[in-house]
Amino acid sequence: MHRACADRAASPRDSRTGLPATLRAGVAPPLHTLSPALRGAMIFPGMISRRLVVKRLASGLGMGWLGYEGVGEFVLGRKERELAMGFHNDAPSQPDAFSRPAAYGEPAGRLVRCTLCPHACTLGEGDRGLCRVRAVKGGRLLTLGYGNLCSMAMDPIEKKPLYHFLPRTPILSVAMGGCNLRCLNCQNWEISQARPEDVKRLEALPERLVQVALQRGAPSIAFTYTEPLVTFEYVRDASQEARRKGVRTVLVTAGFVQEKPLRELCRSIDAVTLDVKAFRDSFYREVSSARLAPVLRTLEVLREEGVWIEVSFLMVPTLSDEPSEVGAFAAWVAEKLGPETPLHILRFHPAHRLTHLPPTPLHALQGARQAATGAGLRHVYVGNAPGSDGGRTRCAGCGRALVEREGFRVVADELRDGACPACGRKLSGVFS
Ligand code: SF4
Repeated sequence: MHRACADRAASPRDSRTGLPATLRAGVAPPLHTLSPALRGAMIFPGMISRRLVVKRLASGLGMGWLGYEGVGEFVLGRKERELAMGFHNDAPSQPDAFSRPAAYGEPAGRLVRCTLCPHACTLGEGDRGLCRVRAVKGGRLLTLGYGNLCSMAMDPIEKKPLYHFLPRTPILSVAMGGCNLRCLNCQNWEISQARPEDVKRLEALPERLVQVALQRGAPSIAFTYTEPLVTFEYVRDASQEARRKGVRTVLVTAGFVQEKPLRELCRSIDAVTLDVKAFRDSFYREVSSARLAPVLRTLEVLREEGVWIEVSFLMVPTLSDEPSEVGAFAAWVAEKLGPETPLHILRFHPAHRLTHLPPTPLHALQGARQAATGAGLRHVYVGNAPGSDGGRTRCAGCGRALVEREGFRVVADELRDGACPACGRKLSGVFS
């Protein structure tokens, strides 16, 4: 038997997920233990072929003989960049009306390295980054889909989820195609895994977007549904314009970004819901094609910059449904972000490539809530689970019930100017 086949056969697998059992134990399985289909879906989604990798290595060596400085990019960093080589020759043939020069790109020999997110894609002429949003044309890094919205809707702000930020207000929610993660359970994969030019063109440059929010009476705008950080330039310009006009802005994000652009965005963003996928790097690598450490760093930076943060944690059955893992993450949040940071534990519903998994059992959600509360967090919610009391906010001082929610609807609100009517303690958050 071929050695890779023998290894694959020997690797124990979870009977329900088909993923290597080591994943659950917190050990990243070697790539060759994954089936070719799964490996392709997670690691090289429609990306560069093995033939092209060989071609690039050969050309890198060739350039080295010519004294070309980019050779190190091809040879020394190859393993590190396997996740981030992007889509070869996939840039639009001509920049369109939605293309703009991108920030956070730097020369890497004759290539261009994007420094917006930790993938650090190194792209040649005509290549497109892993997120599908950034591409090199004419030697310049471009951002695609600037102002080309694929989704626009009015939502209750509780849906983001945000429970401590302008509660009971509507929020104008918008998205553009693209994402730098490859979550197997993505709910919005039709738009997150699409090229910006392939999804609906609803043109809204920053000024127009803010106008729409004002016309519809929305005090805030959410960049959501896909990954807003990869459309950095649009989000930055729109949030600056919104701030000038007195409209708040919110990011719903996975937080996989480099520190410098994040700090720049923090100057004009008011709140963030950060969707933490798991508290294990192996989960990030194998289920989301990303890494945990940069996401935790994002949370620390947001805290340092004074942006309001709420954190969500989706419990995926058999993959990230251990209450102890949620408890360990909650302890980290309590220590690094503060015990009054809201944590939303979310119920998984089958989606995308994990449709064979069941919804998260309610007892696991309740166990995780207890673990998170036991770890010191004062506001722990359970979402997507009708019938539970997971939407209740209590006063962190006297314990009085302050806000009751059913789904995304607030059904009782005892808050007085953001404070408890019984003991007067202010509830953490932004209420005006
Ligand atoms: S933002 Fe996109 S192009 Fe830039 S490094 Fe990340 S995935 Fe690559």
